[in-house]
Amino acid sequence: MEFSCIEKVLKNEPSFRLKQVKRLVFFDLIDNWDKATTLPLSLRDKLNKECSLEIDSKMFFSKDKKTIKALINLKDGLKIESVLMKHIDKRNTICVSSQVGCALDCVFCLTGKMGFKRDLEAHEIVSQVMLFARYLKSKKQRITNVVFMGMGEPFLNYDNVIESIKILNDKQGFNLGARSFSISTAGIIDGINRLADEKLQINLAISLHAPDNKLRSKIMAINKRYPLLKVLKSVDDYILKTKRKVMFEYLMIHNVNDKDEHAEKLARLMKKPLYFVNLISYNPTGDFKSSSKQRIKKFREILEEKGVNVGQRYSFGQDIKAACGQLAVKM
Ligand code: SF4
Repeated sequence: MEFSCIEKVLKNEPSFRLKQVKRLVFFDLIDNWDKATTLPLSLRDKLNKECSLEIDSKMFFSKDKKTIKALINLKDGLKIESVLMKHIDKRNTICVSSQVGCALDCVFCLTGKMGFKRDLEAHEIVSQVMLFARYLKSKKQRITNVVFMGMGEPFLNYDNVIESIKILNDKQGFNLGARSFSISTAGIIDGINRLADEKLQINLAISLHAPDNKLRSKIMAINKRYPLLKVLKSVDDYILKTKRKVMFEYLMIHNVNDKDEHAEKLARLMKKPLYFVNLISYNPTGDFKSSSKQRIKKFREILEEKGVNVGQRYSFGQDIKAACGQLAVKM
């Protein structure tokens, strides 16, 4: 679903057409130009031929119906996955992929094991959101949040990620508020610095997962290039510029990063007013196990006692391999 293709076709059309088409694509959420009955037939035919709205995909539903995973076939035969998470409070969050595979190879993540294939284009990111927006519209619901926590490292595909957010944020188009977007990075400092200078009020999250360099480098190789304290320094600069809260994601992995001493160390780093730690129960991927409920509770208590802002995230869609670190497709 390439909007640049649509713009090209509309080049010689009257200027109101673009606005009309944006409404059809992003508000009415049509999936076929035949449904664009307000457009002349010849234009519909041309658009059908040159700029198909079809998104080649298959959906998988979790048993509790709270999670839907989409497997999307890209034009070049590669595949990506995206996930819809339906929250109790009626929020509908889409977790989108920014790359096919990932080069960072964090030891606990299945996407990393796929290796890196290529960056996604902005329209391929937008299509992931449109796919679920169309589905939700059929249920009289809408998307409330988009998080870049799927396959890939968003800041290694910075321009396409920001462009996709601008397309989805466009008031004449999908019109999803900037505050509804979150980008999660493994700690690419250049990306954090660039985001601080964007005039977009989107949210930043850091995949932290370890409280010191030694452990972090062991489970996230990217830490050798962007060490923990340098990442935190760039986060502090970001907060200074934007005055925005930053999330720190911490996967709770049994016997790896979940001991009391890890919590003590983490508390020393995280006790800052605009820092917020999110503890996430790890989804077993073969090599590692998740921490027990009691362990997570104790870990959280230590952080709370030390005055750290901390919460716990519900883990979605383990049964359909849609949870954090479980997205991986066979090519
Ligand atoms: S956790 Fe994120 S950054 Fe690390 S390998 Fe997986 S997708 Fe890449």
